Amino acid sequence: MSQPTLEQFQSEALAFLEANASRKEAEKKFVWGEGSDKVAMFEEKERDKEQIDVDLACAWRRKKFDAGFGYITGPESYGGRALPGAYQRAYDSLESKFDIPSQSCFTIGLGMVAPTILAHGSDTARDLYMRKMYRGDIVGCQLFSEPGAGSDLAGLTTKAERDGDEWVITGQKVWTSGAHYSQIGEIIARTDPSLPKHKGLTGFIVDMNAPGVEIRPLRQMTGGASFNEVFFTEVRVRDDHRLGDVNNGWNVALTTLMNERAAIGGGGGGGGFFTRVIEMVKHYGLDSDPVVRDELAKIIIHNKVAGYNNQRALDKIKSGQMPGPEMSMAKLAGTNNMIRLGNFVSMVLGPKLVADSGEWGTYAWNQLILGTPGGRIAGGSDEVMRNIVGERVLGLPKDAGIDSKSPFNELKK
Ligand SMILES: Cc1cc2nc3c(=O)[nH]c(=O)nc-3n(C[C@H](O)[C@H](O)[C@H](O)COP(=O)(O)OP(=O)(O)OC[C@H]3O[C@@H](n4cnc5c(N)ncnc54)[C@H](O)[C@@H]3O)c2cc1C
Repeated sequence: MSQPTLEQFQSEALAFLEANASRKEAEKKFVWGEGSDKVAMFEEKERDKEQIDVDLACAWRRKKFDAGFGYITGPESYGGRALPGAYQRAYDSLESKFDIPSQSCFTIGLGMVAPTILAHGSDTARDLYMRKMYRGDIVGCQLFSEPGAGSDLAGLTTKAERDGDEWVITGQKVWTSGAHYSQIGEIIARTDPSLPKHKGLTGFIVDMNAPGVEIRPLRQMTGGASFNEVFFTEVRVRDDHRLGDVNNGWNVALTTLMNERAAIGGGGGGGGFFTRVIEMVKHYGLDSDPVVRDELAKIIIHNKVAGYNNQRALDKIKSGQMPGPEMSMAKLAGTNNMIRLGNFVSMVLGPKLVADSGEWGTYAWNQLILGTPGGRIAGGSDEVMRNIVGERVLGLPKDAGIDSKSPFNELKK
């Protein structure tokens, strides 16, 4: 099929969107005390309500995939259109003007798992899953972290043992976002404990409904349960569901993590809440308080600076390169800015933040403030990001690492 021009593609996309979704109403002016006062980091829904939203998200993906907009840059063999990234960005920009169901349930599956299957999966696995994932027929999750292996991912102990044409997986994963609504997961398991820890790992695609998989919700301090512990008891996986070569799982994991940084990046941290915060300051008559004004100005400046830095990473993506330490800087700046915003709101609201008096726009903030620390850990903790920036941007000596014989580690024992 010949490639449409960008203009032809945009008018085709606009016609699809006009026919299948409604345009967003012009942003309503924010008025203090009106509408919902909900401000949150994680969507805190009950699981049955969440499943309804996932179903709506999948229905929208199906519609757009069938119309040729679900896998714009992907290979034609999996239903893609093999068009350049500029076409995807053009579509995203048009779609953002329409009211469509939240697509957040696909962040991990399409942002991280699908690119890894494309890069490392067998032909059978790619044929089985790529089209289904982009069509929203199935959702994927990431089964990496364990109770004893997070930043030090290579220390994981979930094992996979070969049994003929199958592998038998036993162990436990933790913090698995969206495991409860996912049909498949990308798992990294230890296949050779006699090798150095980075070398004895292998990646697999696992069926989340297979016998021996047990998913238990984890309740976080905000009250919701967005994450899970996942237990594997002798779960059988076919060898054609292996990702990459046996004992090459570390490279498979790196593919996923590179895509994770790219999927998480963006935004300067907290920008979406500025109008609400400024109106709060005015509401409490603090808009001429010099300390309050100074703090608020600092928050807005930090957000702008982070936004400009993110632009460098986005430009690299646009030019077909994989961003490196820019993504770590973006993540670090974004989470720091969220913490700054939370501290500022705490300063303005004081006790209203912890005692629910029923007053609009006060106690509701604790959902965001209690959720923010999770952002400092997810996708690489602040300290790990600082190590990357220290080593790769500032050229500092390499972190001693958990296994090194550095005198600092000897002291920690
Ligand atoms: C919101 C959220 C969503 C998540 N979703 C998923 C998911 O879908 N799938 C998944 O597999 N995992 C997920 N995770 C888990 C996440 O990847 C881990 O929490 C993260 O890698 C940190 O690991 P850990 O919790 O074991 O902490 P640890 O690695 O034990 O770290 C503990 C502390 O030590 C510090 N530290 C560790 N190493 C160093 C070092 N070398 N130098 C300096 N300080 C260090 C850390 O910064 C941290 O403060 C999620 C986590 C969160 C918070």
